[in-house]
Amino acid sequence: MSESIQLRNICKIYRTEVVETTALQHLDLTVKKGEFIALMGPSGCGKTTLLNILGLIDVPNSGSYHLDGHDTGTLSSNDIVSLRRANIGFVFQHFNLLAELTVEENVELPMIYQGVGKTNRKETVSRLLEQLKIDHRGKHLPSLLSGGQQQRVAIARALANNPAVLLADEPTGNLDHDTSVEILNILSELKQSGATIVMVTHSQHDAEYADSIVEMLDGKIQK
Ligand code: ADP
Repeated sequence: MSESIQLRNICKIYRTEVVETTALQHLDLTVKKGEFIALMGPSGCGKTTLLNILGLIDVPNSGSYHLDGHDTGTLSSNDIVSLRRANIGFVFQHFNLLAELTVEENVELPMIYQGVGKTNRKETVSRLLEQLKIDHRGKHLPSLLSGGQQQRVAIARALANNPAVLLADEPTGNLDHDTSVEILNILSELKQSGATIVMVTHSQHDAEYADSIVEMLDGKIQK
């Protein structure tokens, strides 16, 4: 099984009392293990919807989604939560760290949800903070860190449960150019060490760090 992500014929329609919006139409996407793709397209073309479906925080109206060999359409909502916690790491534009927790505690939290024992948690926190070169800030609150440092912590947190897929939603959207390059280099290094990455970006420069660029328009992938 070399596919990390396999979407087939995905449709997503948002319905309110007055309007119906087709956000994704008959979308197919395959991402292989160890592949890094950049998802691009104009505002409203369905990138966020697609990322939410990939991240198991939303479900399509039709079509199939296999994540790391699991047919997500056949799973109970409890199994979906477990699959998400074990297999998906999220990185956001606004970092989304918990302000009242230290850097170490932020990175530890997904492992607490996952039932990982304390000794293993502490070891993983140390290893990830060292890998992301942010270990000297472990006891600090996120508000004391620069944007680039906060994003390093967010990436460490996303990696805590060794996920099958890392989903990054405009991870450099709040960073200056030099810091963006640092974060993109980190994503490239993660890819080199086997991570599967889907990154939404508006930046052609950022997208060029990926193996391939997937262009979306009107809820579809452009061939
Ligand atoms: P993008 O991330 O590329 O800007 P989105 O996935 O956010 O695109 O949106 C795709 C389409 O679905 C847009 O037309 C948007 O207005 C619509 N949409 C997104 N979320 C909702 C929602 N919760 N309710 C209704 N329509 C939505």
